[in-house]
Amino acid sequence: MLQKAEEKLRTYFGYTSFRPGQQTIVKSLLSGCDTLGIMPTGGGKSICYQIPALLFDGVTIVISPLISLMKDQVDALASAGIAAAEINSTLDAAEVRERMRKAREGVYKLLYVAPERLETDSFMALVSELPIAMVAVDEAHCVSQWGHDFRPSYLAISRFIQSLPKRPVIAALTATATPEVTADIQRLLSLQDERIYISGFGRDNLHLSVRKGEDRRRFIRDYLEARREQAGIVYAATRKDVDALYDYFQERGFSVTRYHAGLSEAERARNQEAFLYDDARVMFATNAFGMGIDKSNVRYVIHYSLPKNLEAYYQEAGRAGRDGEPSECILLFHSQDIQTQMFFIEQNQQGAERREHEYKKLYAMIDYCRTPRCLQQYIVQYFGDHAAGECGRCGNCTNEAELADITLEAQKVFSCVKRMRERYGASLVAQVLKGSRNKKVLEFGFDKLPTYGLMSDYTEKQIVDLIELFIAEGYLRVTENKYPILALGDRALPVLKGEEQVWQKVLIRPIKREEDDELFERLR
Ligand code: ADP
Repeated sequence: MLQKAEEKLRTYFGYTSFRPGQQTIVKSLLSGCDTLGIMPTGGGKSICYQIPALLFDGVTIVISPLISLMKDQVDALASAGIAAAEINSTLDAAEVRERMRKAREGVYKLLYVAPERLETDSFMALVSELPIAMVAVDEAHCVSQWGHDFRPSYLAISRFIQSLPKRPVIAALTATATPEVTADIQRLLSLQDERIYISGFGRDNLHLSVRKGEDRRRFIRDYLEARREQAGIVYAATRKDVDALYDYFQERGFSVTRYHAGLSEAERARNQEAFLYDDARVMFATNAFGMGIDKSNVRYVIHYSLPKNLEAYYQEAGRAGRDGEPSECILLFHSQDIQTQMFFIEQNQQGAERREHEYKKLYAMIDYCRTPRCLQQYIVQYFGDHAAGECGRCGNCTNEAELADITLEAQKVFSCVKRMRERYGASLVAQVLKGSRNKKVLEFGFDKLPTYGLMSDYTEKQIVDLIELFIAEGYLRVTENKYPILALGDRALPVLKGEEQVWQKVLIRPIKREEDDELFERLR
C-alpha cells in the first residue's frame, strides 16, 4: 500500500519521497485508523490526507476554515491533475448545484467545504448519496476553545460524521498540540481508537537564540547593517512600535516596509507585495503579518518584543528559512515585556479559566527566554515531541560559557522556599535569603528562619535571577497566576537530598563565594 502511495506522490506531486512524519500518517490512514497528525506550518500536512484520498474508493470531504486557502488548495490539486472542488459561500446557487451534481456523479476525489456548510440541509442531502471514504479536518485545533482560533462551527463536525450512513476514516490535522487541545480534538471530533503522530517541529536550518538586555534598536541596526541584501522580518507587539521602527530605519536609508492592521488594505497589499518580490528587504510588522505568506528566502526573523506564547512565536519565527538554507530566529528579551503581555491577558474579556490558561502559556514563553537548555529541544518538547535531542546550533548549545556547579545555591533557595511553606513569591524569598530587614520579612518572623541571610553575598536581583532560572528548569513551580507563588517542583527534592547536582551555564556569581560543607548537612 505504501508503495502505491509513493507512486501517487511521485506522479501527481513530483516529490521523490514522503517526509518521515507524512509517511506514518499516510500509513495509519490507509490502514483505516482515525489519525491526528500534528505538524508545524509548512510541514506538509495537506499531502497526509490528499494521498490517501487518491487511494480510497469514494470521495474525501475536507473541512477547512479559510475560504481563500481552500481555493488555493483546489487550484493546486487541479494543476496536479486531481479532480477536486470547493463548495462555499463565494459561489452562487447555480454553481453550487452544478458542483453538487458533479460530486454525485463521482467526478471529485476531494471536496472542500467550510464547516458552516455541514449544517445546511442541501449539503446533508447531497452527502447522504455520496460514498464518503474519509473526512479530513484541516486546522483541527479550531474545534477547541483552548486553541488560538476557536470556531464554534467546528463543533458541528462530529454530528455530521455521526449522521453519515457509513462511518468514514477521520484525519485531523493541526499545528497545535498542547495537551488540552489534543484532548479536545479527540473528544469533540469523536475520534475512535485514534493514533496521534507528532513530527516535524524541529527545523534543522534554524538557528534560534535569545538576547537579553540589548539596546534593541541598536542591535537591529547593527544586524541589518551587516545584511543589507538579505530578506528578513522584524516582529513587534504594537502598531506604534512598528511605525517607530519603520520610520527610524527608512530615514537611515534601509530598504524597509511595514504591515499592521492600522494601515489601509491597499497599503497592506502593496507592502506585502514589495516584500514578497524583494523590492523591500525588511518587513516590520505586528503579528497581523504572515498568514498564508510563503516567501522562501527569509533569512532572519527578529522579535523586537516578547510574543504571547510559544505557538505564536514559533509560527512567526518559522517563516525564516522555508528554503532550507541556514536562517536565524532572534528573540530580544526584556522583562518589561512580561508586564505588557500580562496586561493584554487582563484586558481580555474572557473568563477566569481562560485567563489562567493564557498565563500558563505566557510563563512557558518566558521560560523559553530564560532556560539555559537547548532552545530547539525546548520548543519541540513543548509541542509534545519528547524524543528530540539537542540541536547543537542554537544560542544555548553554542554558548561557550563553562558549566558551573550551583548545587549549593540551589539547596539554599529550595530550602528557603520550603521553610516559607511555599506561600510567597520570588521577591520575598530573595529578601529572606539576602537577609533583608524589610518590614514584611520581620513581621512574618522570617529573620528567625535558618535560611535567613544565607545568601547575603548575592544581590537581591541575582537571587531573583537564580530563582527564575530554577523555575525555567522545573526545579521550582509558580502556583498562582496573578500573584505568583513559589513552590518546589519535581526536580527539587533530589537536589535537596543531595542526590542530584545542578549545573548552570549563564553565570550568576556571588560577590564572594562561600564554600560551606557543613551547610549542606544543615540544609537537608
Ligand atoms: P502545511 O499545510 O503543513 O502548512 P503544506 O501542505 O502547505 O504545509 O506543505 C508545505 C510545503 O511543503 C509545500 O510547498 C509542499 O509542496 C511541500 N511538501 C510537502 N510534502 C513534501 C514532500 N514529501 N517532499 C517535498 N516537499 C513537500
